[in-house]
Amino acid sequence: MKLNTKIIHAGVEPDPSTGAIMTPIFQTSTFVQSGPNQHQGYDYSRAGNPTRTALEKSLAALENAQHGLAFSSGVAATESVIKLLRPGDEVIAANDMYGGTYRLFSKIWEDFGIKFIYIDTTQTEQVARAVTSNTKLIWIETPTNPLMNITDIAAVAAIAKKAGALLCVDNTFASPYLQNPIDMGADIVMHSATKYLGGHSDVVMGTLMFNSDALRERLFFIQKSSGAVPGPMDCFLVLRGIKTLHVRLQRHCENGRKIAGFLARHEKVKKVYWCGFEDQPGYAVAKKQMRDFGGMMSFELKDDSMEAATKVLTSTKVFALAESLGGVESLINHPATMTHASIPREERIRNGLSDSLIRLSVGIEDVDDLIEDLRQAIGS
Ligand SMILES: *Cc1c(COP(=O)(O)O)cnc(C)c1O
Repeated sequence: MKLNTKIIHAGVEPDPSTGAIMTPIFQTSTFVQSGPNQHQGYDYSRAGNPTRTALEKSLAALENAQHGLAFSSGVAATESVIKLLRPGDEVIAANDMYGGTYRLFSKIWEDFGIKFIYIDTTQTEQVARAVTSNTKLIWIETPTNPLMNITDIAAVAAIAKKAGALLCVDNTFASPYLQNPIDMGADIVMHSATKYLGGHSDVVMGTLMFNSDALRERLFFIQKSSGAVPGPMDCFLVLRGIKTLHVRLQRHCENGRKIAGFLARHEKVKKVYWCGFEDQPGYAVAKKQMRDFGGMMSFELKDDSMEAATKVLTSTKVFALAESLGGVESLINHPATMTHASIPREERIRNGLSDSLIRLSVGIEDVDDLIEDLRQAIGS
């Protein structure tokens, strides 16, 4: 089945008791048993709920995976992967990934004896050099947030395999419509379903997709034991969001391309970070592993003061100033004070994330209105 059909149908069967074409919201905590431990596959909603099962099947299909698991947030999904590890284990992670992932690793899990090594994963040889006999997990994000750096998934997967370590790819920015890391050798794909999968800025959720049955056993055990599960209503919302993933993403990509071009030509803009430009360092790899380039981008003004950035951030009328991304509406964000404020300034600047950097999540509104909005906000 092709992706656009799987997006609509995978995991979703008409309800056998009523014929309802949409998966019912099984808003129940428990399930009546006909005898002790005799039930129809569900005993308690932390362990399993039919609305969540439908979603998890759909999620697996989207990433060409055998298994999918849904969690109460993206960071809960990430944390579940870390719980596969033991004190003394080492994780190689990207140095400009999502701020909340960095905070989870450095401020919580480091205290439990897990060692995190942050490197520039776009330089594949740096990943190979960082591997030790204790490396158990490589964690990458591509494109990265917010500098749109690209890491070669297949090359890092080969390094992970050789090292006997798992490779987990945070595929939130690309979405399964643009990139499928398992096809390139990744062991686990993670998404913040809060973003493109949900697509309507109305739910917080995280997901993991993977092939290994052994991983399914361990991650399911962690999911039900730690208990960071999404409620049935939220599962329904993400199932509904997924049904338009392909048409939304097509428009995100179209609008993204036009806005990246507009910004690149603007005389007040110093630099645009968007992985579809041929002169970007990651272009060749992006072209190899992504189907298109998406609607996420960042830019810097020639005037690199905080004031100049603040003026743009507070002047847009269609672009809303907010954290998050991947919804149908366009958002504008200031990583230094918003999404990435938890990274120490020195470290942030060292990783190329300046005070004046502005991030856009280009939505699916009329692109002329979006360009006009940026034109008036940036000024001439
Ligand atoms: C939002 C986000 C997360 C965290 O997900 P939540 O759903 O907010 O917990 C992780 N990675 C990336 C790239 C994100 O954008």
